[in-house]
Amino acid sequence: MLNIAFGQSKYYIDNLSENVKRGLRQKVRRGEYPGVAPTGYLNNRLTKKMVPDPERFKFVKKIFQLYATSNHSLKEVRNIITEAGLRSRNGKILCVSNIQAILVNPFYYGAFKFNGELYQGNHKPAITKKLFNKCQKVMKSKAHHTNRGIKFFAFRGIFNCGECSCGITAETQKGHNYYRCTKKKTSCSQKYVREESLNEQISKILQKVSLPSAWTKKMIAELEKEKDKTERADFSFVQNLKSQINECKDKLDKLLDLQLSETISTEEYAEKKQKILNQKIEISEKLKVFQQKGYSWLEPAKNFILVSNEAKNAASGTDLAEKAEFLKKVGSNLVLTDQTIKYFPRGAWKILGNLPHFSAEPRSGEAQNGTENREYSIVLPG
Ligand SMILES: [Zn+2]
Repeated sequence: MLNIAFGQSKYYIDNLSENVKRGLRQKVRRGEYPGVAPTGYLNNRLTKKMVPDPERFKFVKKIFQLYATSNHSLKEVRNIITEAGLRSRNGKILCVSNIQAILVNPFYYGAFKFNGELYQGNHKPAITKKLFNKCQKVMKSKAHHTNRGIKFFAFRGIFNCGECSCGITAETQKGHNYYRCTKKKTSCSQKYVREESLNEQISKILQKVSLPSAWTKKMIAELEKEKDKTERADFSFVQNLKSQINECKDKLDKLLDLQLSETISTEEYAEKKQKILNQKIEISEKLKVFQQKGYSWLEPAKNFILVSNEAKNAASGTDLAEKAEFLKKVGSNLVLTDQTIKYFPRGAWKILGNLPHFSAEPRSGEAQNGTENREYSIVLPG
């Protein structure tokens, strides 16, 4: 009797667990994350969906934005966001590991992981995949620095020695930062350069390639005009992205078939699926950006103009890391010879760098002439 009762209840339990598992699988395929909503979202009991938490959604976004600047450690991000008012659902201050968990959770860009597999969610993303990627990059580079106990120098790893082509490294001596050739290959006669000197030189370079605000506005206006003309040509670009998305969908279907027929292992399936799904999400984002703002060429062109205008602010600013980023954007083959920076301007910045009058604000007459004789035609960078 006991045996039969035991057998029956075991059958019942097995069946139940199988049913629960099946239910979960169906749920995740519908794009529903089967668990407690992560910080910034709430479980809606009626619709069984994850919805943005009106109180915390904006904070989550802010966490990613702050961290992506790479100006803040995890702890600083935690402190800033706590100061701004973020508390957990049970009223506690988030700890640093909570912040880190948020920053690596694909849920926030619209996907989620279940059983080691990535799924496309049907919830509203808090951030773009692009911002998420940026944060992963920052995290990786920060881990690299702290693991090796290396101090941060804004201009390290940017230059090569003009004499022996070794890398230029940095160190602090008596409160000043110095940059010097690593002299790893041969003997090299190059001397130290003080950070202040590099900073000054970089400011001058950025000044040279920066666009005055008055020009910026006119150039953007020109681009907008150009945009209207080419509206039709961009139709095919959208079609192309859409067919790429469909291709990804096909690939995912085929992959699922392979896994169901046990042609590939579960691990292999999960790995390939993650790759294709991330691809699909990135293309969809591109499409969305394109449809919202229009015109694939317009964005890089505008971006170039805006960056050139921002370079002006960076040149006079005190943020050395920002200056270093700008310098890398506008110049390639950065070399240090006899304590002097030499570089090749990239793409369109070549033109700006070669125009001596460009760094000054144009007089009103000049600017108008420029507009008329198409001096604004732009070569896209990179
Ligand atoms: Zn050297």
